[in-house]
Amino acid sequence: MEWSKCIALVTEPHASKWQTASDYVAKIIKTFSQDFGMYEYPKMVAADANDGMEYPMITLDGGADPDFRGLLVHEIGHNWFYGMIGNNETYRAALDEGFTQFLTAWGLRKIDGDTMITTPDKSNYKRVFREPKLAIDRNIYFRYIYDAMRHLDKPLNTHSHDFHNALGHENGYSHVYYKTATMLYNLQYLLGDSLFLNAMNHYVSKWKFAHPYFEDFRQSIIEYTHEDLNYFFDQWLETTKTIDYGITSIRRTEKNNEYKIKLKTLW
Ligand SMILES: [Zn+2]
Repeated sequence: MEWSKCIALVTEPHASKWQTASDYVAKIIKTFSQDFGMYEYPKMVAADANDGMEYPMITLDGGADPDFRGLLVHEIGHNWFYGMIGNNETYRAALDEGFTQFLTAWGLRKIDGDTMITTPDKSNYKRVFREPKLAIDRNIYFRYIYDAMRHLDKPLNTHSHDFHNALGHENGYSHVYYKTATMLYNLQYLLGDSLFLNAMNHYVSKWKFAHPYFEDFRQSIIEYTHEDLNYFFDQWLETTKTIDYGITSIRRTEKNNEYKIKLKTLW
């Protein structure tokens, strides 16, 4: 597919705040097509529906620019994993919602930069003193760390029904989003940026429209990187152990007085 039409459908009362929506949709499609494999469908519609829901080629979204950006990135991002890879959200929600949550921070950072663009606070005090919201913290890390520190997260390789409240995002279900996304950013940290992106692209091109499961994802990343990452995936997917890095050595380099730090995992 060479061209995809990007369309925004908006209700009249919200029209003035949706003028940028179709451009933003195009930026999302372009970003994910470049980084994670070409969008395969002829169009993408963002519909102003006071909601957040994904369907192939159409997403229901709410809010207004700039606060709706994260939602647009998320719902459109779904078209890569459940929409093109073809993951089964009921069987393993992490493969769809988690990978899409990973894309949410990825897209926001690529399009808008590390700091989220939001409506300025009305209060002068908050405008001056409130810290900027980092896309990766707000969309991924804070939500994972908050529960992981209290041991409330669950193993990711779990059927949606076994969380016993998938619709309410309770009983650890929210970690199909945040823990999975944290795992993927940790995989990037482990492999380095280019090897990680190439391995993810290998997974996408190998399994596009082929309905893979976690075993297939794990296998395709190991196959591409030639690294035995079973220790990594075992911990993230099957257990509730948390990341714990230890420092094995710190060395000061000649150049610019920089420090080189060597880490090891303490799992
Ligand atoms: Zn979602």
